[in-house]
Parts: sequence; C-alpha cells; structure tokens
Amino acid sequence: MNLILLGAPGAGKGTQAEVISEKLGIPQISTGNILREAVKNGTECGLKAKSFMESGALVPDEVVIGILKDRIAEDDCKNGYILDGFPRTVPQAEALENMGINIDKVVSIDVPDEVIQGRLSGRRVCEKCGASYHIQFNPPKKEGICDKCGGNAVQRKDDAPETVIERLRTYHEQTAPLADFYDKRGKLVRVEGQEEVKDTSKKVLAAINA
Ligand code: ADP
Ligand code: AMP
Repeated sequence: MNLILLGAPGAGKGTQAEVISEKLGIPQISTGNILREAVKNGTECGLKAKSFMESGALVPDEVVIGILKDRIAEDDCKNGYILDGFPRTVPQAEALENMGINIDKVVSIDVPDEVIQGRLSGRRVCEKCGASYHIQFNPPKKEGICDKCGGNAVQRKDDAPETVIERLRTYHEQTAPLADFYDKRGKLVRVEGQEEVKDTSKKVLAAINA
C-alpha cells in the first residue's frame, strides 16, 4: 500500500506514520528527515536545502523530487510506503503521477493553526532515527532519550515560534491545495487530528482500512 499523509507542520504526520509503519510493516519516508540528515552530513543536496529549511520555506521541487525518487527505488519500498511530508506542492504531486506511482490513499490530518505552536514548541525529535515526541503529550519514557533507538531527542531549530509562523504560511499557500488535488482523484480521506495520539491513530488506521 502506498500512502500519503498530508497536514500542516505539527499536525501529527510523523507520529501517525510511525504507527502505520509498525502496523503494516512498510517504511515511513520523511523528506524532512532525509533533508536534515543531508544538512548534518554537509552533502551537496544538504547545502542546497539548508537556507530554505532554516527560513521555513520549501526546498526547491527538483531537489526533493530527486531525493524521493532515489528513496522509493530502495528495496524496502517494494511492498509500499508511507510518504510523510511529500508531496508538498502541486508539481511534486504531478511528478509522482509522472513516475507512474499509484497512490492508494491520502490521509489529511486536520489540526487548526492555533494548536500548532504548542505542538511544535514541545516537540522533540530523535537525532538518530527521527522519531517524534512531545514533552507533554507524548513524552519518551526517559527524558531526552528516544524509546526506539536510544538516540538523543532534541528540539528542532525550525520549531522556533517565528519560523513556525512562516512554515504555516508556506503550508497554506503551497501545500493545502493538494487536498483538493487528491480529492478530485477520489483518494482523499480527512481525519480530525486534535484528539489524543492514540485516538487519532484509531481514526487514521480506520481511514486506510488497516
Ligand atoms: P508533523 O510530522 O505533522 O510535523 P509530528 O508528528 O512531529 O508532526 O507532531 C508534532 C508534535 O505534536 C510532536 O511533538 C508530537 O509528539 C505531537 N503530537 C502529534 N500528534 C498529537 C496529538 N494527537 N495530540 C497531541 N500532540 C500530538
Ligand atoms: P518536515 O520535517 O516535514 O517538517 O520538513 C522540514 C523542512 O524540510 C520543511 O520546512 C522544508 O523546508 C523541507 N521539506 C521537507 N519536505 C519537503 C518537500 N516535500 N518539499 C519541499 N521542502 C521540503
């Protein structure tokens, strides 16, 4: 099954992708995590992406599409995958179609902007595996340490309030129109994402019949 999770920054895409990945045994592909790793390693692609990410803008389509293409060609993707944070623009969605990729379902996790700042200011992300936590709503068992891999769970620089405002603006302008794009193709399911993580997971799993 090939799935897309849509939603604002902080809507819970990463959190729910982890749940689906565990349940269905298919990988979570987060372009944000791949880009952060590239920035950390100082690769050519990381150098191109860095300033966009720091300002809350999107990385140019051709860079992200290239990353995605390479990732889904890997062996662990042959039984399907969960796209978390891709596509984020109409040209990215069109690129997927032009690659001949069939998307089974697109789940839009809907959370109002007013809730997002609190979600992102308390977010902690594992430096090693990218798992997402919240100091209040979804804390790791041991403070600052990832439950899954023992890596350090740290705050992301772009979760600073002023960058979050810019990321939300970018989202409404460039990514939100994708809901309509996939609705027209009969793929969209909307899930209200304000309940607790486990209740939202139930709704997300029901939406994909898992
Ligand atoms: P996204 O991948 O959409 O940017 P995340 O999955 O990283 O968002 O979630 C953003 C933050 O909100 C994280 O700190 C996460 O633990 C927390 N979170 C996710 N889902 C919920 C929820 N249903 N209720 C409260 N907090 C949540
Ligand atoms: P995320 O971890 O999904 O919140 O993404 C962090 C940042 O990486 C975003 O603010 C963008 O700058 C960049 N990014 C991630 N995915 C994409 C994408 N599909 N298209 C463009 N930029 C992206």
